[in-house]
This record gives sequence, C-alpha cells and structure tokens, in this order.
Amino acid sequence: MTMIKGVAASNGIALAKAYKLVMPDLTVTKETVEDVEKEVQVYKDAVASTAKELAVIKEAASKNLSEEEAAVFDAHAQILADPEMETQVVDKITNEKVNAAAALEEVSNTFIMIFESMDDEYFKERAADVKDVSRRLLANLLGKPLPNPALIDSEVVIIADDLTPSDTAQLNKNLVKGFATNIGGRTSHSAIMARSLEIPAVVACKTITEDVQEGDFIILDGINGDVIINPDEDTIKEYEVKRDEYIAYKEELKQLVNEKTISTDGHQVELVANIGGAGDLPGVIENGGEGVGLFRTEFLYMESADLPTEERQFEVYKEILEAMEGKPVVVRTLDIGGDKKIEAIDLPDEMNPFLGVRAVRLCFQREDIFRTQLRALLRASVYGNLRIMFPMIATVQEFRKAKGILLEEKDKLVAEGIPVSDDFQVGIMIEIPAAAVLADVLAKEVDFFSIGTNDLIQYTFAADRMSSGVAYLYQPFNPSILRLVRNVINAAHAEGKWAGMCGEMAGEPLAGPLLLGLGLDEFSMSATSILAQRKLIRSLSKAEMEELANKCCDCATMDEVVALVKEASGQ
Ligand code: PEP
Ligand code: MG
Repeated sequence: MTMIKGVAASNGIALAKAYKLVMPDLTVTKETVEDVEKEVQVYKDAVASTAKELAVIKEAASKNLSEEEAAVFDAHAQILADPEMETQVVDKITNEKVNAAAALEEVSNTFIMIFESMDDEYFKERAADVKDVSRRLLANLLGKPLPNPALIDSEVVIIADDLTPSDTAQLNKNLVKGFATNIGGRTSHSAIMARSLEIPAVVACKTITEDVQEGDFIILDGINGDVIINPDEDTIKEYEVKRDEYIAYKEELKQLVNEKTISTDGHQVELVANIGGAGDLPGVIENGGEGVGLFRTEFLYMESADLPTEERQFEVYKEILEAMEGKPVVVRTLDIGGDKKIEAIDLPDEMNPFLGVRAVRLCFQREDIFRTQLRALLRASVYGNLRIMFPMIATVQEFRKAKGILLEEKDKLVAEGIPVSDDFQVGIMIEIPAAAVLADVLAKEVDFFSIGTNDLIQYTFAADRMSSGVAYLYQPFNPSILRLVRNVINAAHAEGKWAGMCGEMAGEPLAGPLLLGLGLDEFSMSATSILAQRKLIRSLSKAEMEELANKCCDCATMDEVVALVKEASGQ
C-alpha cells in the first residue's frame, strides 16, 4: 500500500482499478529477420487486431461523441485497409529482410512526408490521420497497445500525465469513477471539468504515472487530495464508509435546492453556476443554481474540427436562455488560448501562451470569428435574460473596442429586421491585475464585473496555473488578492453596478465568509459546490463577516487569513 499526496481538484471518493492513459514508448529498433514469411504474418496479424480495435473505438465513440467526431475512426479504418501501404510494407520485409515494425515506420514516414508536403489542406489533414493509424498499428506490433478512453469497459480510475479538456469531455461518467494526474492545479481546465462531471479528481501527483501499474487497485480521495495504491482490506473498508458518508452529506444538502441564500442578518446573495454547455443545465437546476454566471463558450468550439456556424451557436444560446426561464445567463465570448486549443483556429506558437494571443486578444485578430459569435448572441438575446461578458480585458480601450463591435453587429441586425433585445447587459471579466486596479474607471462603462480569480491569481503572483512547481502560489486567501477583490467590488458598487466572481475561489468554503463580508453580489461556481456554499452563507452574519474581511485584508500572509476565517466561521 502506497499513499501519494496531490492537490484535491474535485470532491468525492472513488475506489476502482487503475486505467493508465499513458502513451507507451514506441521507439523502433531495426533488425534483420530470417523467416520473412513469418514476419509478414506478424504484420498482417497486427493489422487485423488494429482493425478490431478501431471498430470497438468507433462503436464506443458513436455513443459518447458527435457523429462527426466518431466518423474520424471510419477514416482511420479506411487508411488501415488501404492496400498500397500494406503492399509497400510487405515488399520491404521480403526484399530487405527487416522486421515489420521497422518496415512500417519507414513506409508510413514516407506517406506522411508526401501528404504533408502537399499544398492542399485536405491532404495535410490526411497526414495526421496516417500518423495516428500507423502509431496504433506500430503499438500493436510492439505489443504495447495504445490506451483509449473509449476502450474502457469496466469501472476505473484514470491515471494520466494530464487530461486535455477534450479528453475529459469524452469520459464516460458511468465507468470513469475519477482521475489522478501528474500535473495540473485546482484551476486547470481538466479539474474544472471534473467538478462539473461530478467525478473526484486529484491532480499534481507528480509521478503518479510511474507509481501506478495498470490494473492496480486505487482509492482516490478528491476531498483531501490523496491517492492510495493497492490498499489493504481495512483501508478499503474505511474509505467505503467515507464514500457513503460523502454521498449522504450530498443528499442532505439537497434540502436547500429551492431556498434563497440569505445571511442571518438578512443580506441576500445570488449563487449561480459555471457551465460548459447545455448538457450541464440539469446539474444547475438539480443543485439549486439561480442562473448561469459563466458559460465558457469555447467548449462549443471544441465539438468539431470546424468553427461552429452562427446558426449552430444561435441554437445553443437560445436553448440555454430558454431553459433558464428568465434567470440571468452570463455568456462569455470566446476564450481560446492558454491551455485551451481548438483544431479550427491556428494559434501562434508562443513561449507563454497564457500571456499571449488569448481570448479577446485573439478575437480582435480574428474579427470574423468574433462577429459571428456576437451575431448569434444578439439574435438569441430575445429568448431570455442575457448578459454578454468579454474575457481578459486589460484596458478601457479593449472594452470600448469589443463593445463597439457588438453594437455595430446589433445595428446591422436591426437594419436587417432581425429582433434584438434592448436590455441585455454587457460586462467584463476582471482577471488581469491592470483591470482590477483600474476598476473604478472601468465601472463607469460596464454593466457588471465578474472576477476571474483563476487567472487573476496566476497573473498577480506570476505563477502559471498549470505548473505544479508553483502551485503553492495559488493563494486565493493572500491579502493581496483580497485587496484586489475588495477594490473591484467597491468600484462596482460606487457606480451602482453589480460584482460577481466566476473563478473557482467563489465555490471554496473558506472564501464564502470573506466574499460575503466584502459585499460580493453574485457567486458563480461549479454547480456541485452551490448547495454547500448556500448552507454555509445561511449560517453567517454579513456584518460580522464584513469585520472579518477587513481584518483579513490587513493580514500579512494567507495562513493568517485562513486561521482567522476558520475561527470566525467555525470551519
Ligand atoms: C478565471 O480565470 O477565473 C475564469 C473563470 O476563466 P477560465 O478559468 O476559463 O480562464
Ligand atoms: Mg480566465
């Protein structure tokens, strides 16, 4: 039994077998073979088992993914069945007496080079397909089959270096009971997705992919950030009890689903949810969300290899606005870049993508994409209570420019006779320190602020949110952050505007007392955190928390703040 300490990224406890989503080493050594006929057969057997594998993946993918995504595996099966490649590999084995793996590597590299050198986009994409197929085939030849979430057919805990947002989107929640990764932090997007999928996750375990062997039995404690490998019977029993207690606690919280979030001295705040798409809405309603405080629209752009059309976007925005029945829905315009990449947009290769062409900066470079999204949003505005939010605003000019483009598109739609609402709000995320400091000026021009602490903390501390080496600098309770948050809230209120928070901090139990005290109006978080935060805030006095928050802003360290909050709120 071994215990690994990581960062708790999504609550809950899972007990299941490990499934390693780790790419094996596929280095090939060229060898001379005597029995070429046998080697040709080895190759043909590997082709056959690869074809079977692709069929299984296709089958699973058509249940979990869109038709277009699943169709990729048909294309792969066709490439595998293409006689041209097979003939060349067989010739090479026979004429040069080389092993099948080396023959395949040489032949496929030639195919890839030819496709890549063509000017046509279609053939360039085929190069990527050939690369994928030959890697899978090579892996089978070397006896190290590639892992794939679609091949999972029993309950597992996934062990990986990291999971990309699109990996996470493909996970089948019924079988994947949780995941543990080498890298990442509480605010990496895989962690955020785990919380919306309601599966436990532990990240930043450093060497978990080496510590765990395929099939090891794993206990994943997403509450404390622990991973236990091959536990003894007593430990398994202990954690089964903890898991059941956690499930019971979640059930008890459900009593608060239809309650308001009012402090003991009568101050009401709104608790709303962060979502990645319409699929998250049932979770928002079940968990008592009073609206949507952040719709991360970039997930809409990850659905396929092409950009979503205006029509497709319009349908999604309309569906969400209608489903929320007049409750506020804050839709954030495209925030691609950083750790979020999409196939349809070629992002420049930058040394520091989180500091580069990201979010609204990218939208200014690709106004075509931006305008399409804004048109879709404006058209949907008549179906509910829409609030449009621009991410990564650093300067007043950026806000004016983004709003200017929005109003141009509005005028065009009105001229075309298309109905657009007259009372949607336009606000910004405060996630860059420059904007937090200048909040009093920005507050005169915007309708609202939503504080994005995930980025605000990484930029304030100059600590990459993806780097486990500097994870200790993710300090939401450092007085520096509290002062910035206080400045933003006060600036909004001075102009009669509202201030929300949609960074992960809004859902942290220790942040509840502080944010209530600082006067935050709207708390937006993973839907699964809402009820616990509601229970907590309903037990606190706003006046007392105001005093506490001001005291905390004068502290020297995060540890001092945490100690004061624990004492004052009984946590
Ligand atoms: C944030 O930065 O706090 C935020 C909510 O946006 P994202 O996590 O998508 O960058
Ligand atoms: Mg952000």
